[in-house]
Amino acid sequence: MLSICFISKALMSRNKKFFIKTYGCQMNSYDSDRIAEILLLAGHIKTSLPEDADIVVINTCNVREKAQEKLFSDLGRIALIKAKAAEKGRSVIILVVGCVAQALGKEIFARADCVDIVLGPQAYQNIQKSIEEVISQKQCPEVKMQKNFIVDTTMSAEDKFKLLPRNRTLVKLPSAFISIQEGCDKFCTYCSVPYTRGREYSRPTSEIISEANQLVSSGAREIFLLGQNVSAYNGKYSSSAVCSFTELLFLISSIKGVERIRYTTSHPCDITTELMKAHKEISSLMPFIHLPAQSGSDIILKKMNRGYSRSQYIKIINEFRKILPNIAFSSDFIVGFPGETETDFEATCALVDEVSYAQAYSFKYSPRPQTPSSKWDQIDEQTKIRRLAVLQEIINKHQLHYNQSMEGKELLVLIEKEGRYENQVIGKTEYMQSVHLSAPKNFIGKVFPVKISRGFQNSLSGKLVG
Ligand code: SAM
Ligand code: SF4
Repeated sequence: MLSICFISKALMSRNKKFFIKTYGCQMNSYDSDRIAEILLLAGHIKTSLPEDADIVVINTCNVREKAQEKLFSDLGRIALIKAKAAEKGRSVIILVVGCVAQALGKEIFARADCVDIVLGPQAYQNIQKSIEEVISQKQCPEVKMQKNFIVDTTMSAEDKFKLLPRNRTLVKLPSAFISIQEGCDKFCTYCSVPYTRGREYSRPTSEIISEANQLVSSGAREIFLLGQNVSAYNGKYSSSAVCSFTELLFLISSIKGVERIRYTTSHPCDITTELMKAHKEISSLMPFIHLPAQSGSDIILKKMNRGYSRSQYIKIINEFRKILPNIAFSSDFIVGFPGETETDFEATCALVDEVSYAQAYSFKYSPRPQTPSSKWDQIDEQTKIRRLAVLQEIINKHQLHYNQSMEGKELLVLIEKEGRYENQVIGKTEYMQSVHLSAPKNFIGKVFPVKISRGFQNSLSGKLVG
């Protein structure tokens, strides 16, 4: 009986339809692609409809409470889908993966008993094995399993990358993400990342280069390097040498076919003069940097444990601009951090005015479990809402001004995808702005000069030159 069960388990655990929903940052998007690659390799089929799926994966974000709460409202809807499928004799396996999975572990089963599997961000390489285990439990109730659900919150990024499929089969083209680093050692006092993604780990250089080569041969033209703190990259280059982030950029730029290189996120404390100079020396390295400031107040920066002062941050911006005058910046800001006074908040607004970002993200402070600042006196919600609205207005003013300053200029645009209208395509400028223009579909994946006709709040419009 036992062997029949295991044979049927192997057969039954393939050819299932799977659906993945992703919350959060580009790293989660990369992780979801890798999860899909594992499931495709195991013989499953991707679907965009959760109602059709036999396997539903929710890849979660724990950075702010709102994202965590969205998980539980999704699970409510998916539980209904699971119950309807069960009425028709079809079983659905539900997996929660990513940072909320890591943070809450088996607590998730208590809040949503429809969930079968919980996998942390360093354990998703075990997804097919976990699915097989659940299927064998469902198929063979006589096989006495010790547990009726699976939790894997192992914290080894090294093991994860070793066990992921070598070949990237699901690549978003022409701009392809590569995760070069996991986790973070900075321990900003508001941030859950060091607790959910673990300690900083840089992937070996050869792995990244071979992934980049493979992506380019699949049609990628832009390589987008990802990590919580890419500028601190120090991967193993050989048995005795490590490779710095700047050296990695040079290596990637030498791959034939790489037309653009981008990266995110870099921490101000790890920006080196070499990296600044690389932006001038490597023509494929885009003149755009996401450099989160978080606050413009020295008192708050200190409480946040950011490791730099306002003037040190400004100095980095100015040095970059001296080396490459056209470089564009974006940033992240948190308003309503515990203890933030009106004066502190005004210093943040003044920083945005001083730097004049091409774009920026801003968030209301969200107390996260385990983080030191979640235990401090909190700012009231109304103040946070008001400050966020004020800051966003300032950010928007600069973004619109920046976009309008492009009117009449000829910019190089990588055409990335089809637009909503006939003959419309959407591309990106070197400065990360979306551009809408008319061009044939077969222009997707190529770089063209485009004359910008209008700058809007969030995008540009233009015409192909010539
Ligand atoms: N490693 C990056 C850095 O140092 O800037 C940021 C990574 S974090 C996942 C992305 C952004 O989320 C942060 O830059 C910060 O602005 C925001 N964030 C993180 N924790 C937050 C919290 N507790 N409340 C509100 N925003 C938060
Ligand atoms: Fe979080 Fe700070 Fe690390 Fe960024 S640097 S991931 S904000 S702890």
